[in-house]
Amino acid sequence: MNKALRRPLIAGNWKMNKTPTEAKELIADIVPAVKDADNCDIVICVPFIDLALAVDMTYQTNVKVGAQNVHFAPNGAYTGEISAAMLKELGVEYVIIGHSERRQYFGETDETVNLRVRAALDAGLKVILCVGENKDERLANITNEIVSKQTKLGLADVATEALANVIIAYEPVWAIGTGLTATPEQAEEVCSFIRRVIAEKYGTDTADKVIILYGGSMNAVNARDLLAKEDIDGGLIGGASLKAKDFSVIVSEANA
Ligand code: PEP
Repeated sequence: MNKALRRPLIAGNWKMNKTPTEAKELIADIVPAVKDADNCDIVICVPFIDLALAVDMTYQTNVKVGAQNVHFAPNGAYTGEISAAMLKELGVEYVIIGHSERRQYFGETDETVNLRVRAALDAGLKVILCVGENKDERLANITNEIVSKQTKLGLADVATEALANVIIAYEPVWAIGTGLTATPEQAEEVCSFIRRVIAEKYGTDTADKVIILYGGSMNAVNARDLLAKEDIDGGLIGGASLKAKDFSVIVSEANA
């Protein structure tokens, strides 16, 4: 099975939650709770203001740190933005790009997503590229069209060698933060389709190695069935990543 070629990954997306004081408490609970998970990668994607303390507190542990966005310019007059080099120097290893909340509320397009992906990869960051259809698009039966377009445009001009640092998160927008989870079959169908889209462009050897996550109300109860699917290599977890216990249960399911 090709799944054996891929190391599972569980990434928490804290969104705009946790002040530095609160972040310290949560990280202090997460680190010991997941310390024995040797068979999967663990990432916490925290708000910019919590990144430095997260890097410090996870030093020499199995927990890695990610940001939730990055600007595409190397530096300059972009008030309020953060560059890839800034993240890299801080010790951040991952960055979420193109989350549906960024697309929906902050005018992110496939073109700006692609610019961010390339800037992050050039700086040596690992990218978690989010794709997914909204409810109307699913009802209109154009899910594949949407995720194919987002995947292709998000990865435009990204070389094959760089794919080792690209993780795709399939996140149906209707399942994010709603408590409505895609069934394991629905999630698998789209994740395997995304792998085929990547294979068309980069070949099957490369596509077989790409980590594809499911995200959308994954929790301690439904994680096992989702993670058992052939093309689902892990999860991007919002709400449940804010509770150390729930997050560690999901990690242990991925680690099993
Ligand atoms: C997310 O923010 O990427 C996410 C999947 O959120 P939730 O798990 O809360 O649906």
